[in-house]
Amino acid sequence: MNFRFFSQDLGIDLGTANTLIYSKNKGIILDEPSVIAMDESTHQVLATGHEAKEMLGRAPKHIRVVRPLQDGVISDFVMTQTMLKEYLNKAVAQRSAFTQIRVVVGVPSGVTEVEKRAVEEVIRQMGAKDVYILDEPMAAAIGSGLDVDAANGCMVADVGGGTSDIAIIALGGIVESTSLRFAGDKMDEAIVAYMRKNFNLLIGEKTAEEIKKTVGCVFPDEETENISMEARGRDIISGLPKTINVTSSDIMNALEEPIGTLIEGIKTTLEKAPPELAADIVNNGLVLTGGGSLLRGLDRLINYSTGMHVTVAENALEAVAEGTGKSLGSIEGVKRHAYRNRKY
Ligand code: ADP
Ligand code: MG
Repeated sequence: MNFRFFSQDLGIDLGTANTLIYSKNKGIILDEPSVIAMDESTHQVLATGHEAKEMLGRAPKHIRVVRPLQDGVISDFVMTQTMLKEYLNKAVAQRSAFTQIRVVVGVPSGVTEVEKRAVEEVIRQMGAKDVYILDEPMAAAIGSGLDVDAANGCMVADVGGGTSDIAIIALGGIVESTSLRFAGDKMDEAIVAYMRKNFNLLIGEKTAEEIKKTVGCVFPDEETENISMEARGRDIISGLPKTINVTSSDIMNALEEPIGTLIEGIKTTLEKAPPELAADIVNNGLVLTGGGSLLRGLDRLINYSTGMHVTVAENALEAVAEGTGKSLGSIEGVKRHAYRNRKY
């Protein structure tokens, strides 16, 4: 065993909204939106990550800006591969070092076996020695510090951009899980629809996301009662630019439906669990991870609706990446938790 090379091992969170790369000794070495911009005529990559995200909804016709994993499935395969290659090249400056490393990738649970194999293939083509695919909720649980190998069950809900993954874990495996196509993106869409219906205001999804992060709230409290911000868009009737004042209670109304779906998903997962495990979880509570878990009041709303104790992981945005990285600490553990690449 060569420890010098093993210290190069990488964990990758290939998320629908953000891609993170974790190195065992350096921590998070890349954190970029899962967005890529390509010139349609020359097929040249123009930008990735933050730079490409800025181009969303603004690019001229010959430039294609996509979020290739938008709905939790790999909707644009070639673009996903290209983006992943760019990020790996950025993160691992020395190409020769790549041939010795092992990589664990966390993928959204809606991704099919064929797609998993293709992601694995890209990484192997770049020269990685071993590639393991880990289901996101398992990575999220490991990354947020839960003891996934214990007999005593634990529960995690990872609320990302495209998907919410809810899982009950015990003895190193996922016992019950639910993957919903209801997460941050659907909240943004709900805000767009609400603004159109109630204020005749047309806004873009990026503005909706900003509103959600700034004044978004799903459980009333004194602090947020008076929070508001200006939202800019276009008046549907006059076609002219318009600015209105949007409050947290507007957003609470707007988000009622997508949040209701998430709460139902949590309840259903709990109902499917064997009684012993359900009892463990009532004692141990639920841990929330993913960017969507930062929505103000979500923890309190879930607690109110289910009676469970709910905590938001301290590293909510990095939990999956850290979990993939940490799982490399014990290779036996990885083999147990992950889907191992086949040697052809
Ligand atoms: P994924 O794993 O699918 O890539 P992430 O876990 O990175 O997703 O979370 C991205 C989602 O989290 C986006 O929809 C983003 O708008 C949302 N998000 C990030 N910060 C906040 C916040 N403070 N409040 C509400 N939503 C947030
Ligand atoms: Mg994620």
